[in-house]
Amino acid sequence: MARSGASPGKSFESEGFLLHRVPYGESDVIATFLTAQHGKLGMIARGARRSSKRFQGVLEPLSTVLLTYEDRGRDLCTLKEGRVTVPRTRIMEDLDALEAAGKALRFVRALCPARTPEPEVTMSLVTLLDALQEGRRTQAELLRFSFALLTGVGYGLELSRCLRCGKPRPAGRPAYVDPDKGGVVCASCGGGKILVPAELIEEAQRLTSGEPVELSDLHVGTLLRVAEEAILAHAGVEA
Ligand SMILES: [Zn+2]
Repeated sequence: MARSGASPGKSFESEGFLLHRVPYGESDVIATFLTAQHGKLGMIARGARRSSKRFQGVLEPLSTVLLTYEDRGRDLCTLKEGRVTVPRTRIMEDLDALEAAGKALRFVRALCPARTPEPEVTMSLVTLLDALQEGRRTQAELLRFSFALLTGVGYGLELSRCLRCGKPRPAGRPAYVDPDKGGVVCASCGGGKILVPAELIEEAQRLTSGEPVELSDLHVGTLLRVAEEAILAHAGVEA
């Protein structure tokens, strides 16, 4: 790692996924990627709006891309070049899939800390994007991903006991969940804002621990709301 601004940066190559991009100055682009090697990283792509030759497709979302970048230990790395390794253009043609992918990328950007490798989150994101590309059930896949993301970054929901008093959640009963606080809050402790039906809370617990779950469309909506609100509650400063 460079110790002063005068030192040459170190060059890295890593697979990654575009999370966000904004135009910068006359012709540059500032892009945020989730990289396999360094987690979330901001990068400046100089001249990207003038010529896209060096950055063939890597400043477009949804594909897996291979990035070469220079890191001087500053806020932004410099993107030197890149190419697409796994294109996922079919997602673009399906509005539901596109929306689900967009949400997932926003969740990753909001929740993953900068410069922290997140191998489980990266793997779950690949699984989600592949599923969306293949046209599988978008909301169910987004739900699976959202729970995996929460667990991956250490915000997994506590669904086995009350967050306040620690009393185990009674089996086979509906339970109050407070997504902002991160799990179940029993009725004697004031309850949470979402009452989750008995069969759903068991499924949510399996999702949290990454176990396979068969989800009906009816269930997906309620649990997705729990996951989304929990993610937003933890959303930090975006890079
Ligand atoms: Zn309680």
